[in-house]
Amino acid sequence: MPFHKLEQRLEEISVSKKFDGVTISKSALEKFYSGCAHRYLEYRQWNLKEKYMPAPLRKGIAAHHAIENLINGGDVDAIAEEYGATAVGVAERAVNWLEKNDYKVLATEERHIAPLIKDIQFYGVIDVVAEAPNGDYLIIDWKTSYKPWQIRTLESGEKIYIDAQGWQGPVYLTPPYSSDIIRVEDWPIQMLYVVIPTTGSIGEYPYYKNDYDDAALRVTCRQFAEAKRTGNFPKNKGWQCRNCDFLHSCWKTKGWEKYYEAR
Ligand code: SF4
Repeated sequence: MPFHKLEQRLEEISVSKKFDGVTISKSALEKFYSGCAHRYLEYRQWNLKEKYMPAPLRKGIAAHHAIENLINGGDVDAIAEEYGATAVGVAERAVNWLEKNDYKVLATEERHIAPLIKDIQFYGVIDVVAEAPNGDYLIIDWKTSYKPWQIRTLESGEKIYIDAQGWQGPVYLTPPYSSDIIRVEDWPIQMLYVVIPTTGSIGEYPYYKNDYDDAALRVTCRQFAEAKRTGNFPKNKGWQCRNCDFLHSCWKTKGWEKYYEAR
């Protein structure tokens, strides 16, 4: 789910409207903690027009749409025409992977609204909630990439995947208020990032719910809530700006408006 669609989804979610604390989307948290807190303020105002998005991001969004369509028996011809066969090829590989592993898809594009602490809740959209052949529930997140993720070995011998350690895992593995798919008390404790590279085999990178990351998430969300209360989202100007989606709006480059649409 592209982040600029999340606000639109939130509009449909009545529980959030009743909540009088701070609601934090996964995307907002990622912007806030991306190395420049000011990105969050820009993100609140502007969507980068699709034609100005980096090609890998555009293809990734198209592949996500194609995967959802294929899983739900929809058409992918229009996606192939607009974005090329690669996006649909990625989607076909994803669906084959699901079948090969015998994962039962319980929901796609699942709206996730979860309480964190008394006055903070999350929202986001989960790619897939699935049931494994052994009966375990899990969350699947598709990642498109040029190459598989790197595995690192710690001093202890443990193998880790740095790319699977973002906020997404702890956020999505926080049990929601309610669920039409499975009982809240059975909410998954495993997230599986499925990386579909342009070349090479599909990679599977698990992330498991853990107390350390949950505590870090609570601290970070409190910082975010405080920044919202004070309106303090300082700019971290410098090298980070080079690859920032909001370079033009933030710096007001000549003709900057042409890159964005207002949210
Ligand atoms: S352009 Fe630079 S200062 Fe502005 S939001 Fe992006 S990273 Fe932050």
